[in-house]
Parts: sequence; structure tokens; C-alpha cells
Amino acid sequence: MSKYKIEIDRNLCIGDGACVGEAPNTFEMDADNIAIVKDVGGHTDEEILQAAQVCPVDAIILTDANSGEKVWPKS
Ligand code: SF4
Repeated sequence: MSKYKIEIDRNLCIGDGACVGEAPNTFEMDADNIAIVKDVGGHTDEEILQAAQVCPVDAIILTDANSGEKVWPKS
């Protein structure tokens, strides 16, 4: 189980699949070619953060599930 709450902004996602390439056990593409979370426990927190960081449009939003603090994107 990840310490992150993982959200994907479907309006921002451009469907390039970079997150799936980085963390294929956590993310997958849906029928509309938009990324979705398939398993929050699919990768380590570090790997999930890396997957969020490779997203070219910052569509993956990570929040610390305990503190509620936004972890990514930074701004
Ligand atoms: S890396 Fe970002 S833009 Fe690419 S599929 Fe994943 S969420 Fe969508």
C-alpha cells in the first residue's frame, strides 16, 4: 500500500503512456487512452513518485495520505 493518494487529472493526460512505462504495475491506460490507477500497491513509493515525475503534463497528483500534504507536482 502506497503512502500516497494517487490522482490522475483526466483533462490533462495526453495518453503518452510514460507513467505506464515507468510503473506498469500501478498505472494502465483505459479504453479512452487515459491513464488510470490499477493497483496502488503495485510499486514502491519512490517508483510511484518517479512515474509522476516523468509525466510531461503533471497529470499525476500525489498527496501524502496521512498528512494531506501535496507531494507532486511541486507547484
Ligand atoms: S505520463 Fe501523464 S500524460 Fe502520460 S499517460 Fe501517464 S498521466 Fe497521461
